[in-house]
Amino acid sequence: MNLKQKAPSFLTLAMALCISTLNAQVSGSSDRDKLLMSVSWYQQSAEMTALYYQGFNIARQRLDEAVSANKTGKPLAVVVDIDETMLNNSPFEATLIKNDDNLSGWYDWTKKASAKALPGALEFANYSKEMKVDIFYITNRDDNERTVTLKNLREEGFPYATEDHLLTKSDLSYSSGNTSSKTGRRAKVAENHSIILLIGDNLNDFSEIFEDRNADKAKDAVQKNQELFGQKFIILPNPMYGAWEKPLYDYKEGISDADKTLLLKSKLKTQ
Ligand SMILES: [Mg+2]
Repeated sequence: MNLKQKAPSFLTLAMALCISTLNAQVSGSSDRDKLLMSVSWYQQSAEMTALYYQGFNIARQRLDEAVSANKTGKPLAVVVDIDETMLNNSPFEATLIKNDDNLSGWYDWTKKASAKALPGALEFANYSKEMKVDIFYITNRDDNERTVTLKNLREEGFPYATEDHLLTKSDLSYSSGNTSSKTGRRAKVAENHSIILLIGDNLNDFSEIFEDRNADKAKDAVQKNQELFGQKFIILPNPMYGAWEKPLYDYKEGISDADKTLLLKSKLKTQ
């Protein structure tokens, strides 16, 4: 086969690729495309940085108030989530986009123990230690990630990065069969400490009252407890992933990108 005979084949292939790309655009963008803007905002926007500082500045004020008001003598504690609360895993999300990969590389990422502290997180944690308020890290990372997680926290300079201050996913059996729920672990901390503040990027980091996401129930729970935000609960921004995602797709697993896009569009409010 000479080059002249080959040329139409290349052209045909190129056209097929164009059509396939066009089809993808028409039928709906992929999960990676949807993640692109979220990760870009998280990594590039000054607003993201400002929101983290805002959250930790408020946390510091609340900590001061709680220390002054404490007359119980019971040790005080702050409960913090780790991922997208104290440590920044957006490089992992960026890698997913660049490699068009799924979540299979998560353990490779945590094994590196190279996630950086988020803006204000380290300063707050060190201030908490200075004020003699314990920090407990309650995370849904797995038990087999404990060593690398403590290593990462220590290398970033976080205090209380010790076995007895880290509660991973399998540390306790949990209520209502929900292994992701942090309720049991919060109760464990509360046995010997007064929890003055909870900090996280997911409402489930605060209370089980937010865990049911059906039919706007979490939104209703937020509205009913609005006075707690900026008081006992400090929420930080994470547009990349979270418990808010599954309801967007009606909890359907394994649906196509096109169907996901259709569902998202069907829920848009235009007024
Ligand atoms: Mg988190």
